[in-house]
Amino acid sequence: MFSEEQLTEIRERVSLVEFIGEYVQLKKAGKNYKGLCPFHQEKSPSFTVSPDRDTFHCFGCHSGGNLFHFLMKLEGLSFPEAVERLAERAGVSVDSHGPADPEAGRRRSEALELHRQAAWYYHCLLKKTPKDHSVWAYLTQRQIPESAVESFHLGYAPAPDSGLGAHLRKKGFAPETLERYSLYRGRREFFRGRLIFPIFRQDKKAVGLGGRLFQEKDSGPKYLNSPESEIFKKGELFYGMHLAKTEIRKRNQVLLVEGYLDVLTLHLHGFGHAVAPLGTALTAAQGKALQRLDAEIVLLFDGDKAGREAGLRALEILLSQGVAPQAVHLENGEDPDSLLRRHGRLVFEKKLQERRNLLEELIDKSSAALPRGSVELEKKGRTARKLLELIEKIPDSIVQNLYRRRLAEAFDMPEDWLRGIRAKKKPQQAAVVPPPERPWLPEEEILFEIWLKFPALRAEIQQALDAEEFSSEAALEISRAFWELAKNEPYGTPAQYLQVVPESLLCYLTALTVKSNGFEEVGLAKMAMNQALARLKARRLREPLRTVKAMSNFDALNLIHEKVQALAAVTKVK
Ligand SMILES: [Zn+2]
Repeated sequence: MFSEEQLTEIRERVSLVEFIGEYVQLKKAGKNYKGLCPFHQEKSPSFTVSPDRDTFHCFGCHSGGNLFHFLMKLEGLSFPEAVERLAERAGVSVDSHGPADPEAGRRRSEALELHRQAAWYYHCLLKKTPKDHSVWAYLTQRQIPESAVESFHLGYAPAPDSGLGAHLRKKGFAPETLERYSLYRGRREFFRGRLIFPIFRQDKKAVGLGGRLFQEKDSGPKYLNSPESEIFKKGELFYGMHLAKTEIRKRNQVLLVEGYLDVLTLHLHGFGHAVAPLGTALTAAQGKALQRLDAEIVLLFDGDKAGREAGLRALEILLSQGVAPQAVHLENGEDPDSLLRRHGRLVFEKKLQERRNLLEELIDKSSAALPRGSVELEKKGRTARKLLELIEKIPDSIVQNLYRRRLAEAFDMPEDWLRGIRAKKKPQQAAVVPPPERPWLPEEEILFEIWLKFPALRAEIQQALDAEEFSSEAALEISRAFWELAKNEPYGTPAQYLQVVPESLLCYLTALTVKSNGFEEVGLAKMAMNQALARLKARRLREPLRTVKAMSNFDALNLIHEKVQALAAVTKVK
């Protein structure tokens, strides 16, 4: 498996606060950061990250751990999978020590290198193409300056063959590899004659390509994307997210558009918080990713029928994630790109100000569209039911009720008509649970806390106490694992020690690393440690005393005398 050095190197290179910050909006709170928990629904933040200890803990649902635990829990990955993903990000090689599936790891890094090379090759070709060429004419017509060609790494694949295949073969890639990732289909170049939009993950690695035809005379689909692969999951990625993240956080808002060119134009006009799904309808995974941004979501879809339908689907997905998106309505035939190019930034900004809660607007518009005072009751009923189905996607029952009332008012119906229409669903399990009772003594908990936080005191704890001297099964599991790791890593970090803790016990320890009234100062910690050790010793001495009490011979009396003196000696430490 993975060596301790590799894991440590990954943990050191990937900042936990930064990494979690990509999924959860974190705010500084004292020494820690707080945000809305990605593992349960909540309105006020109980999810805490400690930058000092590289640990996280949620006081609502009691999940916690280190960097690896976070990614495992978030994406349902196994430990080796999480390590591989983070190793890739950290630029740490874990292949040589044999991860779970070395072949899969090798293929992933080969695929990444392949797409890096291909994106770079196409990009260089575009830059080498003379400015009077039709591809530059197209870019000029779309008002895309060279700076955007750079920042979005745009490229060009001249027809009939750009020479990419020969270039990649020279770099050592087999023809089958080019075929597998659809850079070539047979002997034909897949993206020939297209403007190339490389698609990047959040760590700015190219994982796929998009190609757009740019001349009227060309035939074929306007857009083509790389096929799904182990590195290219269309349903999880957004075009432009690698550039938009900072701006999204700054504005606390994300603009969701349909096309790559919309993203480009918006970024160029100062709306750097625009992203687009990859040519498909919004997926549940993307909805979840948007929800995790914890920012206002504004849909800016094209003003045609397809755009409106895409907006409706996005609404459904987002509502089931507990997010009510805003929407800006564009005229029929208009898209964000054309609007900006024709009317400029100010008009666009004004449009953006006019955004409305999409579900509310839908309710209003539907009721306004109903024939007034007519007998078309069936139509009214059907429309109400459709809207109600949308409303029932909302996980929060209070919010659901607020929309239900809104619908009842708009449709002039008693609210209870809008209840119990669909089969009663199982009540949602309450996400916030009371903290579980600690499975060990309070003194033992103090020692665990000090162990995690003060590496310098570990040796003293070990001298005073054997790993086998802990009281409960749970405590023994921890002490044995800690004592074992301490043989090689006496000064290991808290995150490192959490790695050897069984998952079921993790939350008790992560809570200790982030709690606000914990030990932060070594002098106080040392006093608390001595006190806890003395109490544990005393407790252990009292045990045999109880058994000898039953005896009445001289030996027993002697033994009692001995024990009482020992007990007096250690309790004096208090
Ligand atoms: Zn939680």
